[in-house]
Amino acid sequence: MNTEVIFVDKNVNKEETYTQAVDIIRKGGIIAFPTETVYGLGADATNAEAVEKIFEAKGRPADNPLIVHVDSKGAALGCVEEVSENAEKLMDAFWPGALTLIMKSKPHLFAQNVTANLKTVGIRVPNHPVALNLLKRVKMPIAAPSANTSGKPSPTLAEHVYHDMEDKVPLILDGGPTKIGIESTVLDMTSEPPVILRPGNVTKEQIENVIGTVRLSAEVLGNGPKSPGMKYTHYAPEAPVYLIEDDSKLIKKAIEYIQGKGKKIAVLSSAEYPEADYHFPLSPETLYTSLRKCDMTDADLILAAVPVHRDDNDFMMNRLEKAADHKWFS
Ligand code: AMP
Ligand code: MG
Repeated sequence: MNTEVIFVDKNVNKEETYTQAVDIIRKGGIIAFPTETVYGLGADATNAEAVEKIFEAKGRPADNPLIVHVDSKGAALGCVEEVSENAEKLMDAFWPGALTLIMKSKPHLFAQNVTANLKTVGIRVPNHPVALNLLKRVKMPIAAPSANTSGKPSPTLAEHVYHDMEDKVPLILDGGPTKIGIESTVLDMTSEPPVILRPGNVTKEQIENVIGTVRLSAEVLGNGPKSPGMKYTHYAPEAPVYLIEDDSKLIKKAIEYIQGKGKKIAVLSSAEYPEADYHFPLSPETLYTSLRKCDMTDADLILAAVPVHRDDNDFMMNRLEKAADHKWFS
């Protein structure tokens, strides 16, 4: 399969591109498109064969459900049952935006592989003009996980998608770099109080300001039973990642020690370390790009400089802990 990358902006023949994208989705194909969080790999959420193509292209385990994207609160309400007043308040407050709400799905609406046979479904309205234009034209819910190979860092640039999905997807809509750079907050509205299954740009405090107390899942707290999809390796580059306290003396010592063993080191940090073989910036917007850049080097080991006192709500820390499989350098 040939993979076409089309830059969707004011200057190109936009309508033609959207028609092509809608056509592919309606015929049961998959395409990659930008959202404000990361790039997604989308298919008609009501077509199991189409959705299966997403799992194949990503190499994604079948028990990891997909997030469904719709163009409005109205469209979301048409997909779910027993919607609480609080869920509607959150839709009004944060949509379009980086908050995925887990709610009870209407029976027999979504393909079973979208929800991994659960009775619930994760839904959000993305806040990106390309994603919204696509959803408005296609007029159906689009199931879309991040457009990376399973286990690898999520794509924040069309190039990242091309790297992972070349020959696996016919069309990548290029909308430039994604603004937020980290996946949506996932909030389970079927528990009381609601539970944050995955931290993201929409914070616990922001949510609590709208609906009162919510909890962080045991998995987010790092000590509990794992929920679907969260038990797998995530965001990992080729070389092992170790977390290290963000202290320049300690980091310089670590660099010297590792280089003394004849190994090459890449450092991810907000401060620069010219003594390291490679240095890449660390911020929510640059996290995945930096992890992917490590794969283009011959670094044997990656150190990520993080605060020692973990804030459970810190979404960048949450992703880094997974990338490092919770290993600390010592
Ligand atoms: P991704 O689309 O790759 O960013 O991953 C979506 C995340 O949402 C995964 O961690 C899923 O396990 C989670 N998710 C999606 N749907 C559900 C659901 N119905 N119940 C619980 N978690 C879900
Ligand atoms: Mg993902």
